[in-house]
Amino acid sequence: MRKIDIIEALKSYLELEKESGTYEYALGRMFKMDLKEKPGESQTLDELKKEVSRCRSCDLCKTRKNVVFGSGNPHAKLMFIGEAPGKDEDIQGLPFVGRAGQLLTKIIEAMGMKRDDVYIANILKCRPPENRAPLPAEILACSGNVRRQVAMIRPKVICTLGKFASQTLLKTETPITALRGKFLEYPAFNLTSGGIPPERDRRRDNGIKVMPTFHPAYLLRNPQDKKLVWEDMKKIKKEISK
Ligand code: URA
Repeated sequence: MRKIDIIEALKSYLELEKESGTYEYALGRMFKMDLKEKPGESQTLDELKKEVSRCRSCDLCKTRKNVVFGSGNPHAKLMFIGEAPGKDEDIQGLPFVGRAGQLLTKIIEAMGMKRDDVYIANILKCRPPENRAPLPAEILACSGNVRRQVAMIRPKVICTLGKFASQTLLKTETPITALRGKFLEYPAFNLTSGGIPPERDRRRDNGIKVMPTFHPAYLLRNPQDKKLVWEDMKKIKKEISK
């Protein structure tokens, strides 16, 4: 490994740890180390679920009924990631089971799949009171969990639902109207590139593609945009069947 690569890798790691605690994944990938023995760090989705179910990293733990970790196929080629649980999800402990969730189920079925074929999760694992927008402190405390889920599932494609999930996962402030409909590279470490031109930034080359699209709750209010989402789903179908 060249010195510059080691420095860049360390820089990434420190930024990452500061930001989200997705520690074992970053280190493991950068240095090809086996970190299985690291005590207290979840290595499987089930372990991570148990860990997250006890989480008290932000105030949402005081108002939640259930932690909504995620559900579906742990080997899914396709992951859907939304914003945060709503009332129904909080009660049932499952993602996307309310009205928006029913629409998401229809979308998945229209793609020729079942909910059990894909994996569904959110950026936040606990419901913000009154469904208010997530706070920066909550995102900071929680977004490492969804990145660890991605690292464990390693889907081919992630479909981010809505502005919030898309901007958080892609670390961008680009509006969803500009983001949607195009595949983007999943930033493995979700970091700024530290001045490395994208074509030389090997950290980004992890083979996971992100397709941002509109959130199903938005579609319930704006059904005229369903056709745009369908265009995005057709691109995803093609990509995962390659
Ligand atoms: N909206 C989301 O973003 N996630 C859910 O789980 C439900 C509604």
